[in-house]
Amino acid sequence: MSDKHHQAHEGSSPPGHGPFGESEAISEAGSQRTSWQPRYSRDDFCHSPLLVFYEVTRACDLVCNHCRASAMPHPAPEQLTSQQSADLLEALATFPKRPMVVLTGGDPMKRPDLMDLISHGTQKGLRLAVTPSPTPLMNAAAVAAMKEAGACGFGVSLDGANARTHDSFRGIEGSYELSLSMIRWAGEVGLPVQVNTTVLSENLGELQQIASQLESLPVQMWSVFFLVPVGRARHARRISARQYELVFELLYHESRCRPYAVKSTEAPHYRRFVMQKMHISANSVPEQLYGLSRYAPVGTNDGRGVMFVSHTGEIYPSGFLPLSCGKFPSDSPVDVYQNDPLFLDLRDADKVQGKCGVCEYRAVCGGSRARAYAIYGDPLAPEPDCVYVPPAWQVRDASHKDCSRTRKPK
Ligand code: SF4
Repeated sequence: MSDKHHQAHEGSSPPGHGPFGESEAISEAGSQRTSWQPRYSRDDFCHSPLLVFYEVTRACDLVCNHCRASAMPHPAPEQLTSQQSADLLEALATFPKRPMVVLTGGDPMKRPDLMDLISHGTQKGLRLAVTPSPTPLMNAAAVAAMKEAGACGFGVSLDGANARTHDSFRGIEGSYELSLSMIRWAGEVGLPVQVNTTVLSENLGELQQIASQLESLPVQMWSVFFLVPVGRARHARRISARQYELVFELLYHESRCRPYAVKSTEAPHYRRFVMQKMHISANSVPEQLYGLSRYAPVGTNDGRGVMFVSHTGEIYPSGFLPLSCGKFPSDSPVDVYQNDPLFLDLRDADKVQGKCGVCEYRAVCGGSRARAYAIYGDPLAPEPDCVYVPPAWQVRDASHKDCSRTRKPK
C-alpha cells in the first residue's frame, strides 16, 4: 500500500455513520434503480464513481450509538469552508460520468450554507441527495427548501419498528416519530426517499415489521446496512455470518413483494446470495446482471463506484474505510479516484486475499473491503462475515488456510 495511505488520526476519523450517508446508500447490491440512480457499467467505475459521499460537517445533535463519524456537537475548525465546499462540488462535476453526490454528516442541517451548496452543485450538473438527522432543525419547510434548491434524494434512518428500539439507538426520545414525519414531508414535495436501517442483534427481529411499515410510507428504496465496526459502531453488536444469510433471505423475499426497492449496503455477498437463489452462474459477466435489476444491479464496493470526502477534505474509498488517499483541495478527487494505488487495488478483484481471492463470485462481490479493514487491519483481507466457502478454496492445500480464520482481529 502507498505510504500516503494513512489512517485518519483519532478525533477526525473515521468518517461518520450519519443518517443515510451512514449507510453508503445505494452502494452495492441494490434491487431496483430509482429515478435518481443512473445506469452505470463496471467500465464506468474505472473512471467515475456512481456515488460520492461528502460529509459536509461532523456536527450533529444526536448521539447514535452506531455512529460511524463519532459525531460531535460543533463543527471542527478545519471543516471545509463554503468556498472550498463549492470548489469541491465543481471538481466532482468534472468526472467523465457525473456521480450522484450525497451530502451527509454529522447532520448536514448544521451547515448554514446547506441550501446554497445544493443549489450550487445542481447548477454544476450534479444530482444531490441529502441525509439530515431527525432533530428539531428538521421540519417541513426545510425539506421543501431542499427540494426547491434542487435536491433529488432524501435519506432517513429507521433502525426499529417502534420508538423504543429506534430512539434507544439514536440516543434521543422522539427521534422515531420525527423520522416518520421527515419521510412524509419529503413525500409531500415529491422528494424521493431512501430509508436506511442498520442491522444489529437488537433489531434483527424487527426487520420484517419495518419492511411492512414502509409500505404505507412514500419510500422509494430501503437500504439495509450491515455494520462495519468503525467510530462508535466499534462497540455495537454486529450479527453473525449465519444471521447475514437469514437477513439476505428476508431481503430477497421483501424485494419481490414490496412496492419500493430493497438493497444491502456493506454486504456485497448479498449478490452472491441472489445469484445462487436464482441459479445464475457466477461466471455471468456483470453487465448481464442488469437483467436482474429488480434484485441486484451492478455492484459497487468501497472504492469501486464509491468515494467519500470527509468534512476536512480527506478522500477515502468509502465512509467506512478510513484510509486517506488524498486531501482536497491539494489533491484532485478525480485523480485520486482514477489513479490512487489503493483505489486501483480495490477495483481489482484478483487483489483480494484468502477465500475471497479465489471465489468465483469475486468480480460481483469481493466482500466488504471496509469490514475486512475494520476487523483485520487490511483492506484486501477476506470478508469476515460470509459463510460461503468457494470450491476453489476447499481444494487448496491445507497449508493455505483462510486468513479469515488464521488472521487475528486488530
Ligand atoms: S467468499 Fe468472499 S467473494 Fe465469495 S461470496 Fe463470500 S464474500 Fe463474496
